[in-house]
Amino acid sequence: MKQDYAVIGLGRFGGSVCRELSMEGMDVLAIDIDEEKVNEFKNIASYAVIADSTDEATLKELGIKNIDHVIVSIGDNIQASILTTVILTDLEIKKITVKAQSDYHEKILNKIGADQVVHPERDMGKRIAHSVISNNILDYLELSDEHSIVEVKAGKKMQGKTLVDLDIRANYGCNVVAIKQENEINVSPSADEVLREDDILIVIGADKDISRFEKHLV
Ligand code: ADP
Repeated sequence: MKQDYAVIGLGRFGGSVCRELSMEGMDVLAIDIDEEKVNEFKNIASYAVIADSTDEATLKELGIKNIDHVIVSIGDNIQASILTTVILTDLEIKKITVKAQSDYHEKILNKIGADQVVHPERDMGKRIAHSVISNNILDYLELSDEHSIVEVKAGKKMQGKTLVDLDIRANYGCNVVAIKQENEINVSPSADEVLREDDILIVIGADKDISRFEKHLV
């Protein structure tokens, strides 16, 4: 279903969101205070306008109230990001996603009613850190403050062993929820499944348990 979106702030993150939504055929209203940025998106977004999003009257004139989902990606200017979010919550926009610059910024955004707060630099940093611990860690996804999912290559230590042999749940408190083998994904792996070096395991658990699992088995 086609939905209306607005992206406020067309820097690297907001610009990328705007491009992708437009490529997916969505109607996007692109807003930035900087004329050059707006010109860059004239042929990409459905509408691209120069506006200061901290000005409520301007946002109203742009018809922001009719938009289902607004994404705020104002980087360095935390004050402008907060002010814009307050205006959008006052206008009762259905869904507001805001990019946070720091943990403190994130806390404030949650308090003032942002529906979704994203922190791409921090999250990407964590994913990269996990993948540099071992070449066999392919991806890392944070589920909450204390729980994550990791995607790991079985590698030499797990090769030829079954899930029973490894007993990952008893030894590390984590669960193997799926095994990818070539193009197939097995979402309910049986305990006697013999692992091959190139198999990919999807493991869910508490961060401290995943950390032990990464150190010992990956
Ligand atoms: P990123 O880290 O994602 O590249 P930037 O800080 O470079 O983010 O980009 C933020 C964008 O937000 C800039 O293009 C800037 O012109 C825009 N911006 C800043 N303040 C406002 C505002 N009050 N109204 C609209 N756009 C704004």
